[in-house]
Amino acid sequence: MPVVNNSRKAKVYCSMCTRAVDGLVMPEMRGGHCQLRVIPGQKCGHCRASMDVCFVLALLPQAPPLASHERPAALRALPAGRAIAAA
Ligand SMILES: [Zn+2]
Repeated sequence: MPVVNNSRKAKVYCSMCTRAVDGLVMPEMRGGHCQLRVIPGQKCGHCRASMDVCFVLALLPQAPPLASHERPAALRALPAGRAIAAA
């Protein structure tokens, strides 16, 4: 899989198997505005067709590897602390 700076994960529509699959996309300036473009060289996870001609449905939320796990833990710690203080 090609590694390109600025690449982001997105839901990409595969026109061969008509499924929404995960793919890497990158922003590209075209006609004065920014467009998302599927990074060439990827294959559909379902039908293995080239994803070069697929189009982007939606960007997946950027998942910060630690913050997404830290937040729920911090939220859980607060009620637990209250429960201990009350007991
Ligand atoms: Zn496909």
